[in-house]
Amino acid sequence: MRDNLPAFFPARTRIAVLTCEPVGVLDYLAPEQGVRQGQLVLVPLGPRRVLGLVWGDGTGDFDLAKLRPVAKVLDAEPFQPGFLEFLTRAADYTLTAPPLMLRMATRAPDLDQPPAARRVIVPGTGAPQRMTEARQRVLDVIADHGGASFAPSELAQLAGVGTSVVKGLVAQGALAEIEAPRDTPYPRLDPSLPGKPLAPDQEAAANTLRAAIREGSYGTTLLRGVTGSGKTEVYLEAVAECMARGRQALVLLPEIALSAEFLDRVEARFGARPGEWHSGITRTERRRLWHMAGRGEVGLVVGARSALFLPFRDLGLIVVDEEHDSSYKQEDVVFYSARDMAVLRASITSAHVVLASATPSLESWVNATSGKYTRLDLRSRYGEAELPDMAAIDLRAEDMPSGRWISPTLENAVRARLEKGEQSLLFLNRRGFAPVTVCRACGEQIGCHQCDARMVEHRFQNRLVCHQCGETRAIPDACPSCGVEGKLAPVGPGVERIAEEVAARFPEAKATVLSSDLFHSARALKETIAQIAAGDTDIIIGTQIVAKGHNFPRLTLVGVIDADLGLQGADLRAAERSFQLMRQVAGRAGRQSGQAPGIALLQTHQPDHPVIRAIISGQDESFWDAEAAGRQATGMPPFGRLAGIILSHPDLTVVSDFARHLAANATPLEDAGAELWGPAPAPIARIRGRHRMRMLIHAPRQAPVQSAIADWLAPHRLPANLRLAIDIDPQSF
Ligand code: ADP
Ligand code: ZN
Repeated sequence: MRDNLPAFFPARTRIAVLTCEPVGVLDYLAPEQGVRQGQLVLVPLGPRRVLGLVWGDGTGDFDLAKLRPVAKVLDAEPFQPGFLEFLTRAADYTLTAPPLMLRMATRAPDLDQPPAARRVIVPGTGAPQRMTEARQRVLDVIADHGGASFAPSELAQLAGVGTSVVKGLVAQGALAEIEAPRDTPYPRLDPSLPGKPLAPDQEAAANTLRAAIREGSYGTTLLRGVTGSGKTEVYLEAVAECMARGRQALVLLPEIALSAEFLDRVEARFGARPGEWHSGITRTERRRLWHMAGRGEVGLVVGARSALFLPFRDLGLIVVDEEHDSSYKQEDVVFYSARDMAVLRASITSAHVVLASATPSLESWVNATSGKYTRLDLRSRYGEAELPDMAAIDLRAEDMPSGRWISPTLENAVRARLEKGEQSLLFLNRRGFAPVTVCRACGEQIGCHQCDARMVEHRFQNRLVCHQCGETRAIPDACPSCGVEGKLAPVGPGVERIAEEVAARFPEAKATVLSSDLFHSARALKETIAQIAAGDTDIIIGTQIVAKGHNFPRLTLVGVIDADLGLQGADLRAAERSFQLMRQVAGRAGRQSGQAPGIALLQTHQPDHPVIRAIISGQDESFWDAEAAGRQATGMPPFGRLAGIILSHPDLTVVSDFARHLAANATPLEDAGAELWGPAPAPIARIRGRHRMRMLIHAPRQAPVQSAIADWLAPHRLPANLRLAIDIDPQSF
């Protein structure tokens, strides 16, 4: 462990404490027993006690005699100086108020509670005499969380039952209530257990990573290789090296649904399961993992993007798997990219970063090309498996009467797979039955009351749903605009409509729809995925959740229903995103060695579009180079910088007046060499009843964008109820 002992402040010295309240940093007196920099404390603020973090020497000139002392020092490991620096620099980079950053770093329940023993429920040995629906729900929750322990009330709450149901199961021996220490360390993962024998290119890549980790200094590696090339095996070797050196490792995954398979792999490799951090874990686990990360008592954590804000004692390796995935960008309260923050954190604490992807983000590709990152390529699939063949289906040349979405060519390909007992996947990145419901009498399209968005028909639920705010409505008989009955018609396909066509064309086939809205728990999704992998379906119809890393051994055909879908729109990142998504989806076909190579067929009206051609020809590098050249010519990211400002207010006049006022007073931006574009209505101009305007700030790469924005906004008072969000490096532009 490399510990820099943080500064110690003896009793009654003046210290600065970062509170998690909007006031930010305030001066206090150190408590009687003294306190270290980086310790979490409770401090008095008016009549309340609030959470704070000891930041350093007191700064203010507030009279020492009038300062109030720290009320309580919490029983948590002090944050390491490197972690404090990370929080500061992350706040500066994303223009986030430091109190919000502190909240991100303290997302563990009951921080003010000591780690005393408490009563918890664990699985028992008996079976209930009579199974009821409520009892089954309780047992399901326990099964869902893989044997975790729960406080009785938490378990009841998660299952949506009264505590008496839990007590009944305890009385019958199906569950047991025991006294357990609050924060038990994790079982040690053993890095000395042997991994799989690696193929030569895997071994070479693993050796480079091991050497980088032994060096113990900062570096970033882009690990590129098609799906199935064995990237995971390679970075697990880096994890082993990191743990063998006594440092902690973090693996970020884009989807919780993927973590189940990954956890099994880790257990097989290192003999125990890693810590897990995402929205699906229990409060007990959340607290336990948070503390163990701080004490260095968990060697490997697998998590969602927010795991980057755990107070690791000595983080030596961060893996960002599927690094191009858009879920790494948080666009809520704090706007940040977990990929970029991983690089920042690693550069401060001398850790190594591995960015793994078959289809890297353009940013990472450019950094690897310029030598800022090391690039490692796995050139073939592990073993004998081959990449799928790719071809376009030119929809202009197919017989496609209205209401038909599966072309005759694709239909024949699916039929051939059915005859051989192989699986097909039909991909359409659109949830629901139809994206638009139109009245054939007056032409009205049914929209959401609160958002500038159309209501999407979800036939399985028999409702219209707004994908922005989640509002749902029964499908009306009469048009809400002209009142004529029986004239509302669905326009365009979603996955549910493709499922309908599949049922009509292949009545003998077993079809399964994979769409996030159709699964109410991670376990249900996991079970369906396992059933598909076991071969228990002929045709999978899916949205982008099928694109991510699942392994379906019998799948040999991927049909992309609408390859043009992502190519439209003004977003400059559209080409990059479509390319990534279609390449990932196509990668689902023919993953296993010893199996016929798969084929991916792309239905398109534009077979000559550069993105479609790049995918079909397999010339990924020329695609990235061409995209990069285009961005460079226009000074767009990653060659220039962008920041988005989104203003919203229930009243359109308020938001547009204020936006114009800001734009008219933008001297600090001009002084920094930045241009202001807009204001203009945001891409979705109204959400949940709030009107949204957007401005984009475009600047050369080296321009001090953050300080210019801060200077620009500082003198302005926001109108009441106006929200202003700053998005550095926005995803869409
Ligand atoms: P990626 O992360 O690039 O998608 P994986 O590491 O998941 O690839 O490997 C794909 C499949 O090949 C997995 O089932 C994995 O267990 C297997 N595999 C990869 N490398 C090896 C190896 N050296 N020995 C045996 N199996 C391997
Ligand atoms: Zn809505």
